[in-house]
Amino acid sequence: MKEGIHPVYKECKVTCACGNEFVTKSIKDELRLDVCSACHPFFTGQQKFINRGGRVEKFKKKFNIE
Ligand SMILES: [Zn+2]
Repeated sequence: MKEGIHPVYKECKVTCACGNEFVTKSIKDELRLDVCSACHPFFTGQQKFINRGGRVEKFKKKFNIE
């Protein structure tokens, strides 16, 4: 295996706007999502954010999302 030729798939920390976090494989270190399987209407059947102890508000503040 030579380095620098192929993208290296490594563990990627995914953070969703709903506060959900999970790890997947990607060439990136980090990913930020607006929706994930935990909060997407397709999966939840209803449009709402999962609010766990004000993490959504903290997240919004941090990234200036309204
Ligand atoms: Zn989510």
